[in-house]
Amino acid sequence: MSEKYCYNLRHGLSFHQKNIRFCTTLQLGEIISIYEEKPKELALKIQETRRIIKKNLDNKIIPNGCENCRYRIQECYETEKIKRIDLYYWYHCNCGCFYCSYRDETKGEFSDKIKEGNPVIYKTIEELYRLDEIDKNNLFVNFGGGELGVLKEFPKLINLFLKNNVESIWCETSGIRYSKELAKALEKGKAGLSIAICSGSPETYKKIKKRDKYTQVLNNLKKYINAASKCKTNPNNASRVISKYIILQGFNNNVNEIDKWLIDSMNIGIKQVEISMEFCWGIHTKKGEKVEDYNYELFEYTEKRCKQLGLALKKNETSLAIMKEGIY
Ligand code: SF4
Ligand code: SF4
Repeated sequence: MSEKYCYNLRHGLSFHQKNIRFCTTLQLGEIISIYEEKPKELALKIQETRRIIKKNLDNKIIPNGCENCRYRIQECYETEKIKRIDLYYWYHCNCGCFYCSYRDETKGEFSDKIKEGNPVIYKTIEELYRLDEIDKNNLFVNFGGGELGVLKEFPKLINLFLKNNVESIWCETSGIRYSKELAKALEKGKAGLSIAICSGSPETYKKIKKRDKYTQVLNNLKKYINAASKCKTNPNNASRVISKYIILQGFNNNVNEIDKWLIDSMNIGIKQVEISMEFCWGIHTKKGEKVEDYNYELFEYTEKRCKQLGLALKKNETSLAIMKEGIY
């Protein structure tokens, strides 16, 4: 029996802004490439590196960047194919969240202009399909990075995955620009999305996001819920459209704002909400400090209110892991 060690090393592939890796965790892990190759060479390099890592793991050799990782997932499969692709390879966004982890790169700039991210990615994924490196019927795709609504190749990528019978596509989006392709994937029961609205009023939204788009985002969320509700194969498909709230000290860490957020979410037909602490920015600015009490209190409060309102609640998993340890 081989040493499997981590799901991401066995089945993950993560396209980042500066490199390609196996995972999208705060640990970072092993790097495969820094985008110096053309798509065909890149796909072959990914294939080759995945073989080497597997052989090393079979011989109990763990990659340097992975030692003592607290994010590794030990649940692995017998197949060696890629089952998860993370797409975090661009910075461009139409929103200006003050807590954005890309602020060092973007300098807080944002725009509604549609821009190309990295055209190599589409062709590389096409090539990986051709090499039979991807588990066609069981692929999970995760879009993060900047904003997918202003990423030029987003519609093309969605269509490539749908054509290849993707199992599920998860999208983190600002929700400012409506995407027809995302709605199409939702309608087919092949996607889910999360919009971190982080507020229950236009005023708080603008303070956090630097855009006056609260009502527009709620309207787009409603359109996505309608699209998801049309799915013929999953009666609970609408619960895959999630309204998210990241607790931000001095901006929204109070029960009044949480109440307004829950009510507005409920009124547009949201079935599931998510609560999270701010760990990316938090770890960046408070590393080693104690997690503040208000995070625990507001998680508890949100749970109580969701039960009263009949909303399903997702508690962000990374937040729970950090809150359990009690230290950023
Ligand atoms: S062990 Fe940790 S760093 Fe390495 S691939 Fe897995 S999750 Fe990523
Ligand atoms: S929506 Fe996401 S990528 Fe855009 S500024 Fe906010 S946190 Fe950053």
